[in-house]
Amino acid sequence: MQIIQTVAELRAWSREFHRSGKTVGLVPTMGALHEGHLSLVRTAKAACDGVAVSIFVNPTQFGPNEDFALYPRTFDADCTLLKAEGVNAVFAPAPEEIYQSGASTFVEVAGLSDRLDGASRPGHFRGVATVVAKLLIAAEPGRAFFGQKDAAQVAVLRRMTADLGLPVELVICPIVRERDGLAMSSRNRYLSAAERRQALVLHRALNAVDALVATGERSSEALIAAAHANFATEPSVRVDYIAAVDWATLEPVQEARPGTLIAVAAFVGTTRLIDNLVVE
Ligand code: AMP
Repeated sequence: MQIIQTVAELRAWSREFHRSGKTVGLVPTMGALHEGHLSLVRTAKAACDGVAVSIFVNPTQFGPNEDFALYPRTFDADCTLLKAEGVNAVFAPAPEEIYQSGASTFVEVAGLSDRLDGASRPGHFRGVATVVAKLLIAAEPGRAFFGQKDAAQVAVLRRMTADLGLPVELVICPIVRERDGLAMSSRNRYLSAAERRQALVLHRALNAVDALVATGERSSEALIAAAHANFATEPSVRVDYIAAVDWATLEPVQEARPGTLIAVAAFVGTTRLIDNLVVE
């Protein structure tokens, strides 16, 4: 497994595959890898000849009062996991490699970037869109793999790749959960034992919504109310948003339809967690 630190080397690595008619997949991550990330890696390995995983804690997607400095960095353990999956290359650039001094170009997906997580984390999706665009331009993958867990991010990136005409297929992989239902996240390691239990309310609330949808309920208001009722049983958890939206536009919908995204975000202690379901 090759460890690559520069854009030039990454592009050369990718072009080597392309020269021999082989396909390249890219899995962008911020490291602190867990089974959720590895499910993306396995999907990529099954679909592509060469797989690169990027590990980059992207400073521009963190707000001034967020956890950029604290974000877990476990590079050696990450590499051991990726090697065992047969990953071909790890791209681990220094921040200066991605944001050269004087850089003043950003990718802004207007509208979408201000909804859901973008509403509570101003500038977050501008940072995400910018770094993913840079990674796609550097690695030139035919496919790039993302998790449904970050559903608003998926909407932003789909819009961005379509608008910029980037020649890449985005492959969206299902949410991987702990045995008790908590969506896996690098941030789960911030939770105390008590918070870890409280965090289950996100999944419980979504299960309640799912059960209601199964009875035929379609009113977003009723579905959102059911989720809020669940959160009320865990008063120490502060809801950031509960929303029923069109997954492409992230605009609220009155009636849930197949493809409607029901998304939640909540603070468990100081840790902000997200989860979602897509109506079938
Ligand atoms: P991150 O390192 O948090 O930026 O995540 C990197 C990629 O892994 C993103 O596309 C995430 O959506 C995806 N991911 C994170 N957690 C999960 C999970 N529990 N299940 C599936 N994909 C995930």
